[in-house]
Amino acid sequence: MAKGSIIYKTQEEIELIRASCLLVCKTLAEIASMLKPGIIDSDLDKRAEEFILDHHAKPGFKGYGGFPATLCMSINAEVVHGIPSNRILQDGDVISIDCGVYMNSFYGDAAYTFALGDVAEDTMNLLRVTKESLYLGIQQAYHGKRIGDISAAIQNHCQRKHKFGVVRELVGHGVGRNLHESPEVPNFGRSGRGPILKEGLVIAIEPMINLGTRRVKQSKDGWTIITRDNKPSAHYEHTIAVGKHKADILSDHQIIEQTIKNNKNLRKISINC
Ligand code: MG
Ligand code: MG
Repeated sequence: MAKGSIIYKTQEEIELIRASCLLVCKTLAEIASMLKPGIIDSDLDKRAEEFILDHHAKPGFKGYGGFPATLCMSINAEVVHGIPSNRILQDGDVISIDCGVYMNSFYGDAAYTFALGDVAEDTMNLLRVTKESLYLGIQQAYHGKRIGDISAAIQNHCQRKHKFGVVRELVGHGVGRNLHESPEVPNFGRSGRGPILKEGLVIAIEPMINLGTRRVKQSKDGWTIITRDNKPSAHYEHTIAVGKHKADILSDHQIIEQTIKNNKNLRKISINC
């Protein structure tokens, strides 16, 4: 996936990536405002594409490696890369929505898992812990640390502390003029290992965490990744720039959460870190 050497970004380039990431989050907020039981996932995808084009940008995923849609929509046991395909969302579903845009020669990438209506409490806990792990990973992303410090923080929280399954087949990545750049950012690993983090490195950190087994399989559509035990999965993603003393989070989940607050069909995911 992520090939080649690491490309460090100037502050100017980081601002362009931030603009792309903000448009991703505005798109996810627009979709969040529409989420309700009975809505069809393809209609959400159409709206997302329209919204991105209206903002003079291009969907980042559509056509990427042949992916057919603007959004990856992964419902319940689907981990990532679910294809919107006339599916009706139901009360009690958890829906992971991943979105990318391409604007001014730079990509933006972010994802959020939404809880629709009466979601089981153990699944709500999975969402909370996954989201917490994203921020614990981000806390490690400053100059002089290593990729393994991010990975270990996520794995410790999700697997060691909460006994959830950490997906290993898919990882975070560098972001820039390409959607997937070096280095890879695994959600498992050992602290003090892996590439060193330097100012100007822009990466997507994206824990993909399962309620049960970490094992996954690919569905017959050639894209969708599903848990082997059919238990639910969660996915939260930020694109960040490594800073001198802390990470600069380029995407903004607060834009999405403002909308969640105003949509009575959605449950809020509160974290403790
Ligand atoms: Mg993504
Ligand atoms: Mg990503």
